[in-house]
This record gives sequence, C-alpha cells and structure tokens, in this order.
Amino acid sequence: MLNGVILKGNRVIIPKNMQEEVLIKIHTGHQGIEKCRLRARDTVYKCGINADIDNMVKKCNVCQHNQTAQQKEELIPIDVAHPWEIVGSDMFHWRGDEYLLVVDYYSSYTIIRKLSSTTSGAIVSKLKLIFSEFGIPDIFISDNARHNDSAEFRKCEAEYDFKHETSSPRYPQCNGKAERYVGVVKKTLQKAYEAREDPAIALLCRRTTPIETGLSLPAEMLGRKIQSNLPIIATTGNEKARFHRREQWRQQYDEHARDLKDIIQVKVSEFRIM
Ligand SMILES: [Zn+2]
Repeated sequence: MLNGVILKGNRVIIPKNMQEEVLIKIHTGHQGIEKCRLRARDTVYKCGINADIDNMVKKCNVCQHNQTAQQKEELIPIDVAHPWEIVGSDMFHWRGDEYLLVVDYYSSYTIIRKLSSTTSGAIVSKLKLIFSEFGIPDIFISDNARHNDSAEFRKCEAEYDFKHETSSPRYPQCNGKAERYVGVVKKTLQKAYEAREDPAIALLCRRTTPIETGLSLPAEMLGRKIQSNLPIIATTGNEKARFHRREQWRQQYDEHARDLKDIIQVKVSEFRIM
C-alpha cells in the first residue's frame, strides 16, 4: 500500500470500477498485444489482465489492420555506451506536412518536429533547438546530402562541435536506424489517425513502452521515467531524492526567510528615520 494505492510489486492494482477505463488506456497507441502486455507489466495489474488485453486487441480493427507492420518493428542490438552518444536524423512527409525526426541510438527515444519550411536554414534551426534541449551529441548521423552540404549545416557542425557522419563504420548495424524509426513514427501517427486519437498521446505511449521484455523504456533509458497515461510508482531511490530535495528547499527557504526578515527590519528602521 502506498499513499492509499494497493500495489503488486511496482504495479498498481486496478480497482474494479476502473478496470475498463485502464484497459482502454493500456490500448492507447494501438501497439498490439505484446506491447500492450509490456505496458501493463510495468504499471498496472488485475487478475487475468493478459487475457483481457488479448481480447481487446483481437477485437480492434486498427490493431489488426496494422499487425504486420507492428511485427516488423524490431530493434537491432547495438553497442553504444550512453544516451545521446550517437543520434540519427531523417525527414518525412505525413498528411501534407513535413517533419524532422531525431532518434537516439542508445535508447531509441524519438523527437519529432513539424517543419514550416524545408530549407537548410529552417532544418538547422530545428536541430539547434533540439540540441539546446537535449544536448549536443558526439556523433550526428544523417545522409541528407542536400542539407548536410549547406553552409548553415557546416557552420552548425563547427560551432556545436559534433562529428557528422553519413553512416557509422563503427556500428554498421546502426545504419538506417533513423529511416526505420520514420516508419515506426509514421505508423504510430497513422494508427492514431485511424482511431481518431490524439497523436501526441500515441507517441508518448510508444516512448514509454518497454522495448522488449526485461529492457527499459526509451524515455527511461534517456535518463528518467516520464509520466504516460498509466500510473508510475516512484522507486525508493526517487523517494529518497525527493526527500533530500525537499530538505534542501526547506533549509534554503528558512535562510531566505531570515534574510528577508533582516531586510524588512532594516526597511522599517529606515522608514522610521525618514
Ligand atoms: Zn487497437
């Protein structure tokens, strides 16, 4: 029991009156039986949950229609030491708009930005924003010759000091990862479109679904657990860190309050003098 919630391991036991609602949430993003089971295995529990997931997915036209593509979504194991060491990038077109995709080779975490223009300058601006939010990678892999040979890209490469490669001889099995993830992301967007669901939530569900049994979530591998539409339970370590931060804030607040009191007293005394 944690904060009034009954747990089974790290999973929240779903109360009877919420079981239907939670099953629908597990199914958001239409990732098929295996991925829905993985999502549940990391977050929520009810007796017979796997059978319920199987029935739900088998009855879902969107999951059944996209089943072949889901089976193709295989990750190639690679030997990259840490997140953001190597990122790949590609562009794609979906329902009238152009998008830029950046994928981290370590975690398979994807970042997508809609492009209002496909000039080299516009693409480099988006890349700079992504690097400002996530950091500069060691190696940036992209084989879009039209943009990679542009003056804007060369300047960005020099200023931001990353190594640009069109393919990775060190990790030949990585090549084509960005193209593969364009396929994964487009399929996620398509399923959300067919199901009339929010595409942003569908992408969030993909980022917070474990890659395979026993492996971490893309978002978690990038550095932290992020909240999806299913509950996450803070680990003991997180709770300790939160307690430590709270203590630090309390101390800082007390010190700040003391300082403030002195300032107020000085001002009051100054006021009196005036
Ligand atoms: Zn479905």
